[in-house]
Parts: sequence; structure tokens; C-alpha cells
Amino acid sequence: MLTVSKEFAFEAAHMLSEHEGDCKNLHGHSYKMIVEATGDMKDGMVIDFKDLKNIVKETIIDKIDHSFIYFNASKDEVEHKIADILKKSGKRVFEVNYRPTAENMATDFYNILNDKLADKGIRVVSITLYETQTSFAKVVG
Ligand SMILES: [Zn+2]
Repeated sequence: MLTVSKEFAFEAAHMLSEHEGDCKNLHGHSYKMIVEATGDMKDGMVIDFKDLKNIVKETIIDKIDHSFIYFNASKDEVEHKIADILKKSGKRVFEVNYRPTAENMATDFYNILNDKLADKGIRVVSITLYETQTSFAKVVG
């Protein structure tokens, strides 16, 4: 199978409620995401890399970069207070209905992008999301 991949990077903050260790604290990551896609070749391309870049940027990166990733069903009241203050002051909040682990985020991004790219006849083969330089989650469709 022939696939194409593109790498993206974004910075974001989160906190993992009910985490036993350091991750219960508000902290940030320099995330790296690799989107791998496939589809029928047209003019020697699966998809123009520029089109792939724009779609991923508009759909995910522009919304999450430099944001607080807010789990709206968190059991930590502090998380709701932080999100509330940020929202009220017009700061960027990326609200999700899942605990923002790399695994859950990669799954969410896979579903969002697979739906979006289906319009162009493209299928997402995998999403790899690095939370640190050596730790990542990978969703294979
Ligand atoms: Zn973290």
C-alpha cells in the first residue's frame, strides 16, 4: 500500500484528573502528530501535501495550538475553574469529552480527520501522536 504522511506540531496544556503522579498538575507538552493517509493516485499524487496541511491545520492545529485542553467531565473542580476563567477572558480552550491522554487524543483526531478527508476520497491509515520526544500513541485505522 502506498501512503503519504505529514508531520505537525502544536503546544498545549492539560491536566489529568485522578492521575496518581505528576500529570494531575497543570502542565504543557510540545506535541508532534504524524498523519498517514492513502487514496487513489491522481496525477501521481494521493493528495497534494499543501491540501493535507491546510485541512489538518484548519480542523485541528489552529484550534488546539497554545490552548488549554479541557476535559469537560473532569472530576477535578480546579480544571473546570481554570477553563471557566480562560473562556471568560477570551483565551483559547480546546474542549473535549474525554480524558486528554495521548491515546484518547490520537483516537479523536483519527476520527475527525478520517471524516474530513473522506470528502476528498482519502482514508487516514494512522495517526501518531507524540506527547514527549519518546512517548507516543498510534491509532491504526
Ligand atoms: Zn501531560
